[in-house]
This record gives sequence, structure tokens and C-alpha cells, in this order.
Amino acid sequence: MNAEATLSFDIREHGAPVPASERTERIADPGFGKVFTDHMAVIRYTEGTGWHDARIQAREPLTMDPAAAVLHYAQEIFEGMKAYRLGDGGTALFRPDQNARRFRQSAARMAMPELPESLFLESVERLVEIDREWIPHMDGGALYLRPFMFASETFLGVRPAKEYLYMVIASSVGAYFKGGAKAISIWVSDDYTRAAPGGTGAAKCGGNYAASLVAQAEAIERGCDQVVFLDAAEHKWVEELGGMNLFFVFEDGSVVTPPLKGTILPGITRDSILTLLRDDGITVREEGYGIDQWRADADSGKLVESFACGTAAVVTPVGTVKSTAGDFQIGSGGTGQITQRMRDRLVAIQRGEAPDPHDWVKRLF
Ligand SMILES: *Cc1c(COP(=O)(O)O)cnc(C)c1O
Repeated sequence: MNAEATLSFDIREHGAPVPASERTERIADPGFGKVFTDHMAVIRYTEGTGWHDARIQAREPLTMDPAAAVLHYAQEIFEGMKAYRLGDGGTALFRPDQNARRFRQSAARMAMPELPESLFLESVERLVEIDREWIPHMDGGALYLRPFMFASETFLGVRPAKEYLYMVIASSVGAYFKGGAKAISIWVSDDYTRAAPGGTGAAKCGGNYAASLVAQAEAIERGCDQVVFLDAAEHKWVEELGGMNLFFVFEDGSVVTPPLKGTILPGITRDSILTLLRDDGITVREEGYGIDQWRADADSGKLVESFACGTAAVVTPVGTVKSTAGDFQIGSGGTGQITQRMRDRLVAIQRGEAPDPHDWVKRLF
């Protein structure tokens, strides 16, 4: 039997966790990614030994050698998922098996060892269990889980590292965009692309985000909330936002989303919405949609809604698109019917308030 499959977690509870009253204060209005829990999960990987030293321990700073490979060549991947409070007081994850699988796929692309899915799932579940009191009670509140892995080997040669650190940290979060499902404005980037064919666009790696930040900053400068990237080859096809997938809803009731061809991140929210739309009998096409067509269809009224989706913000309507070629508005500039329906459906399933025909919700306790 493979040693990896028999790893057992050493649970070392925090000696001095944040007192309950202080925790209540911190999670009352947590925002996003600022409030962290008491513990973290850690698993080490060493070539030859495999995965070892699995534990849950007090969250604390890392000590690393300045020559740690990740600091130089960016071998780093991550995941983003949420633990929710259910209506009956229980706690659940949403499709965690999909995060575990995508984490392995991201690792393979970045020449990193693939963490067995059972270890990924156990690390996340044990962390949620020990830090469950950190899930905020407000609407939209959740424990945002951030599994990640990086090359920790002290070595400056250019090759895949031989040592890695896998960790999970958890952050109490409220609604991602303040005001919930308010429509956002997006800026079409002319100067920058996110991912090219053959590149790392389908991997959830920190490098993709590093590459997107200057474009996102430009979007903010132009008065927009988010940047939208076009494909790198033809600079024509609408791909995705810096961290969210896109959907287009037409007057005839059909829906389009860009296909997964290696330059787009295969979002779990994207996949869930595709499934819900098909469940509803809506015609969905995974096909390219050009920026000029988007503009023409929005102007003619053929396109009635557009929305972005991802774990952090769930479903977010796109109200306005701005570019050097001029601006255009989507529908009435607010939240469309399908957008609202998909958001409500998904949130209701995640919270255990609606039937879960696809077994997406994994109840922990
Ligand atoms: C994480 C991510 C998404 C959304 O994926 P979900 O699994 O739905 O959270 C979309 N685009 C990019 C670039 C991402 O990194």
C-alpha cells in the first residue's frame, strides 16, 4: 500500500487561541481575506519520501531560506473554497472533490507533485472542524479556505524543486463585493493578456494573478471594478475576468460561456451554473464570443444579461463594459433575471435551503 494513503494528521491545538469575545468582534464585519482563524493545516513533500508530516497546528509565520525556490521561479498553486453554515446549524463544503481534483491538475502543469485527493479533503475538513466557530453568522458569511502549495527547497538551479510545503489557511469572510449582487463595470484590456495557448491559464497559480494585476490596476484607473481579458492570439475572444468566469444571456433565452481550451480557468461555479441552466432546460453553448459581437448584441438588445462567477463572489452581474473603443451597457445596467435566478439557486443549494440533486453539498457536521 502507498504510504501517502495512510498518512495520519497530528492535531496540535493552539495553546492560546483568540478568546471567544475577541473572535466575535473580529468576525462581525470581516470583509474579505483579512481575518484569519487560529489554526492551519500543513503537509510536507520531499522527493524520495513522498508526503509526510501532516498536521493541524497553530497558525504562525513561516521561516524560509531566502533561496527557497518559490521566491525565484514561482512554483506555487492554490485553491479557493468556502465552508458554509447550513440553515439547520450544520456546516458544509461545496463540491470539495472538484477543488481537490483541480489542485492536482494545477500541480501537474507546474511540475509539482500531485497531492492525493483524500489528503486534500482531509486537511480542509479537519481545519474547518477545529476552527468552525470562525464562520460568521451574517448573510453571505463563510469560512474562506485557501489550500496552497509551493516549492520550499533551498536551491537556485532551474528545475522542478524536490521539496514542497502544502498548507491550508482559513479566513472569515462576509460578502465579497459590498452590497451583494450589485452590477459591476468591467474594463476591456487592450495592452495586456492573461494567458496564452500552451501557457498556464487553466492552472490556479499565483503567477497568473501576478500577471493580471497591472491590467486590474488599469481597470480601476478607468473607473471600473474589474478587468476582462481577451484571448492572446487574436485579441478578439472574450475570455474571463482576473478571477471569475463569464456568462452571456440572450434575448431568445439561450446562454453562452467561453469554452475551456487551456487559457481559461475551469471554474467550479462555472460548471455548477452550466449544470443548473441545463437542468432548467435552457440552451447553453460553450463557444467563443467576440468583443465586437458582444458590443453589437448589447446595443441591438439581442444580448440581455452578462454575469461573472466564482467562489468568492458567487454570481455578479456585469452592468457596463468600457474600452478604448467606447462603452456599452448590458440590458438595463442592473441585475438580469437569469443572473438573479442562478445566484439564488446556487446560494440556496449551498446553504442547504434547496434540494441538491447533484450531491454537491458535503456536510461535515
Ligand atoms: C478561481 C478562479 C475562477 C473561479 O473558479 P471557481 O472554482 O468558480 O471559484 C475563475 N477564474 C480564475 C482566473 C480563477 O483563478
